[in-house]
Amino acid sequence: MKKVIVFLLVLMVCIGIYSIFTSNNKDEWHYSNGESIVCRVDGCGKRPVYSNWNDRFCEEHLNKSENHASQYSPSVATKKINTKHALTKEEADALRGTGYHGTRPNSTAEDIELKAAMVKCKKCGMHSDNGANSLCDECRYNEEYGFD
Ligand SMILES: [Zn+2]
Ligand SMILES: [Zn+2]
Repeated sequence: MKKVIVFLLVLMVCIGIYSIFTSNNKDEWHYSNGESIVCRVDGCGKRPVYSNWNDRFCEEHLNKSENHASQYSPSVATKKINTKHALTKEEADALRGTGYHGTRPNSTAEDIELKAAMVKCKKCGMHSDNGANSLCDECRYNEEYGFD
């Protein structure tokens, strides 16, 4: 009987050591599917400075971090300029029927793509991916970081 208890104790210790070992070995910089974690800002995609959720921001967005916002240095942020022209109506009309963006010529999909390409940022007048009467990503960024 005693042998069984000793055996069970040894087994439990082994399991304990094993679980500590595997949890230490788990890479905090990757999701469980092996993908690298990225900055929490939508569309940023950069490597975060900290891996924990509250502080998972890249250098440029570290000002949003819960615990490390003070480490954010404004010098890493620079004013962004949108250089992507919105299509004019004439340009869009000229492209109609050419299978714009890999769509079928004269299809609804092509029409939608062309309309989207004509959307202008309400501030800088360049192309905006964010829908009618929106700010483009660059203007949003500049506003957020006080570059205006
Ligand atoms: Zn970021
Ligand atoms: Zn803009």
